[in-house]
Amino acid sequence: MIEASVGEDGTNRADDVRAVQWLLLRIGIDPGAVDGLAGPRLIAAIRTAQVRFDMEADGRIDPGGRTIARLTGARATWDGDSRNWPQERKLASLHPRFRGHIVRVIDTLRRDGLRPTIVYGWRSVAVQRRLLREGVTQVGFGFHNAQTPDGLPAAWAADLVDDRWYWTEPECHVFFRALGAAGKAEGLIWGGDWTFRDWAHLQGRRNAELASVRRESGLT
Ligand SMILES: [Zn+2]
Repeated sequence: MIEASVGEDGTNRADDVRAVQWLLLRIGIDPGAVDGLAGPRLIAAIRTAQVRFDMEADGRIDPGGRTIARLTGARATWDGDSRNWPQERKLASLHPRFRGHIVRVIDTLRRDGLRPTIVYGWRSVAVQRRLLREGVTQVGFGFHNAQTPDGLPAAWAADLVDDRWYWTEPECHVFFRALGAAGKAEGLIWGGDWTFRDWAHLQGRRNAELASVRRESGLT
């Protein structure tokens, strides 16, 4: 997970720092940024995690140590409606192999003068069932619900809209066309191509893989 120590007096390789920043975000602790830099905010966030884990709060994470083991294995409190989470936390809730694609899609759209915002990254199966009852979605388990076997969010889908238009104004079609193009350039699947148009939806796995994603999620 990390190759060298991170935090107070750590080696602080940028890749390791970034990995720790994402891990902290996943359990709802704000590391300040995900920028690969080990500043005071990151060290304070590591201490917060260590206090929560009932460990000595030395602000430092060593490879193979107890803090990294707890961070990677943490069963987080990811309940409630994730729609209201900050953008960074929504990004943190995506599967690591899907997240980079979404980060690049967002960069591309911003460069084109659009204002992408994630409405849903991951959401819990409980929220999914409510949306199913309300007719907002057609499925009881989807790529938004993917998680690690120990219950951490690892979504393979994200819904993005322009924060000026959401789904309401006709101008939003400019945004959704750009979203589809940018997503497909990243090898993603765009819901706007489906018969049942799901304009805001990008996913990183094929529909045929849903059953295996469900198994990977530890759900039967
Ligand atoms: Zn979606």
